[in-house]
Amino acid sequence: MDVSTPMMKLNNAERRKSGGNFKVEIKDHIINEVGKIYNWIDKQIGANATENNRCDGCGKCCDFEKFGHKLYITSPELIYFKAKVGMGNLKTMPAGVCPYQSNNKCTAHKYRFAGCRIFFCKADEDFQSKLSEEAILKFKEICKKENLPYEYTELASSLNAIASDID
Ligand code: SF4
Ligand code: SF4
Repeated sequence: MDVSTPMMKLNNAERRKSGGNFKVEIKDHIINEVGKIYNWIDKQIGANATENNRCDGCGKCCDFEKFGHKLYITSPELIYFKAKVGMGNLKTMPAGVCPYQSNNKCTAHKYRFAGCRIFFCKADEDFQSKLSEEAILKFKEICKKENLPYEYTELASSLNAIASDID
């Protein structure tokens, strides 16, 4: 059964095949722009709240291997995440479960990625896909403005890359 997030289904061609070097400068305005996009996503979800995009917080979808889906992250989000979580709290992802999950709860909830915000296991896939597409355009716009390489990388590769990145 394919229960991939819409994020996974988009932009296959643009996805990176492996983790990469995120030797990027942390810029306050990039972080602010990503924060604005997250607020925008949260508002869109709030405005379209239905019984189907209610999350019971079971945490099952953050165990990607067991749940059978994947999460992809854009490069501006990694800059944001690294800055907000802090270098000392960056974790690698050696297994299929997100290392920020503890006792089925997200310990990085405030700073979680667009795909984490958009995915609801029972929600309308069309709504999620449209929202993902719009969010990706916004992240691409940041890259264009800031001359930052746009990358769209699977969670484990992304976390492993930033955790091993030395400023
Ligand atoms: S979206 Fe679904 S699987 Fe994921 S935590 Fe919420 S209820 Fe659980
Ligand atoms: S950041 Fe949080 S919500 Fe996203 S996959 Fe990890 S534990 Fe789940």
